Amino acid sequence: MSDSSSAALVAATPTPDPPPVVPETSPATTPTVQTRTEGRLRAPATDTAPPPDESTPAAAATPKKPATPGRHRPRRRPIWVGWPDEKLLDVRMCDLGLSIEGTVIERRIRDLHAELATRGITFRPHFWLSDDWFTPDDIPGVAIPFYLAHPRLARLELAQLLEVEGGTKAWCMRILRHEMGHAIDNAYCLQRRRKRQKLFGLSSTPYPEYYTPKPHSKSFVLHLDSWYAQSHPDEDFAETFAVWLDPRSVWAKRYAGWPALKKLEYLDALMAQTAGTDPLMTTRRLMEPLSSLRKTLREHYTAKRRRYGLEYPDFYDRDLRKLFSDAPEHAGNVSAAKFLTRVRRDVRRLVARWTGEYQYRIDQVLNDMIVRCEAIGLHLATPEDRAKPDFMVLLTVQTMNYLHGGRHRIAL
Ligand SMILES: [Zn+2]
Repeated sequence: MSDSSSAALVAATPTPDPPPVVPETSPATTPTVQTRTEGRLRAPATDTAPPPDESTPAAAATPKKPATPGRHRPRRRPIWVGWPDEKLLDVRMCDLGLSIEGTVIERRIRDLHAELATRGITFRPHFWLSDDWFTPDDIPGVAIPFYLAHPRLARLELAQLLEVEGGTKAWCMRILRHEMGHAIDNAYCLQRRRKRQKLFGLSSTPYPEYYTPKPHSKSFVLHLDSWYAQSHPDEDFAETFAVWLDPRSVWAKRYAGWPALKKLEYLDALMAQTAGTDPLMTTRRLMEPLSSLRKTLREHYTAKRRRYGLEYPDFYDRDLRKLFSDAPEHAGNVSAAKFLTRVRRDVRRLVARWTGEYQYRIDQVLNDMIVRCEAIGLHLATPEDRAKPDFMVLLTVQTMNYLHGGRHRIAL
C-alpha cells in the first residue's frame, strides 16, 4: 500500500473505537449458513512476497499491549465510512487502509486459538486481509476477506452479493475452523502421510471444475454447505478437521456408524501425535494481501457477480405456466411479475438456505423469471397463500436439479 494513497482516505481524527465490525446477527444473513467458501480455495502460492507493512505474523494472535500503558491510542476513522456505495465502489482495495487489529476478526481468531488450546495444538497460523477467504498451498496461514474488517464494507458486501459470507459469529467460526484444517495440513505436511492419502485421497488430485455431490453419502462429514467435503481430498480433510475441532460437534456420537467416522478417528490420533510439536513449515508469507490489490471495489464486485451470475438454473415457460396463467379468466388477478417481486426476498433466502446455493445466483433466476412472466403476460391462477409455497418448491427443485446435474461449479 502506498502511504500517500492510504493517507488520502484515512482521516487522522481521533474517534472512539468503532462498534463491532460485523453484526453478530444480521437479519439478512442469519438464516443462511451457506458457504461455498473460499473464493479461490487453495490456489498455488506464486506471488507471495509480503509487503513490509503487512508481514506481521498472526496479526491477531496475541493482542499487543500498548506501547505506553494506560494511554488511549486514537483510532483512525476511514474517510470512506460515510460515503455512499457509488463513491465507495471507486476506492481501490489497496487504499482501504484496513488491518485485522481491533476488529471482530481479531476476536474470532482469539476464539479459534482457545479451541486449539483446548485440543493441545500449539501451532498458530498467520492471518492477513485479502479479497476472499483462502489458504494458499504451501502457506500455513489464512486470508480473510476485507469486508469483515469494517461494518461499512460488510454492508457494501451485503448490497452487492446479498449475503456476507462469514458475517455471523457461528458462520465465521465454521469457515475459520475449515481454513485452519488447510493451514495445519500445510504446516505439518500431513498430505504426505500414507494413511491420510489412503483415507482422504491424494492432495495432488486436480481440483475439478465441477463436482456432483452425493447428498446421502456417509463417507464424508457435513460441515460447510453443498457437501463441500466431496469436492476434493484436501477439502475433505479440512472439513473433517473442522468437525473434529468444533467443541460442539459431538462427532463420535454424530457420526457413529458412518464410514466418515474412520477419518475423524484418524484425525483425532494424528492431532494427538502432532499437537505439541513444532510445525515443519514456518513461512509467514502472504498471498495477495489487500495492500497489493490495485483493483477498485467496483471491479472486484463486477467480476464476482459475473462469476456467480454466469451460470444459474434454467427455467422454462412450461414450469411458469404450471403455476401462473395467461388465460383471460385470470387477467384480473395480480400479475405473476408483481407477485414474484413481492415474495422475492423471502423466497431467495429460503431456497438458498435449503439448497446451499448463492442468494445472488438465485436472485438472478428470480429476476429472469419476473421479466419472463411480464413478457408472456402471466397472472396468478391460485390464491397467493397457495402460490407462494408452490413457487418455492418449483424453484428449489430446479436449483437441486442444477446442483445434482453435474453442473455445480465450485468457486475457484
Ligand atoms: Zn477449503
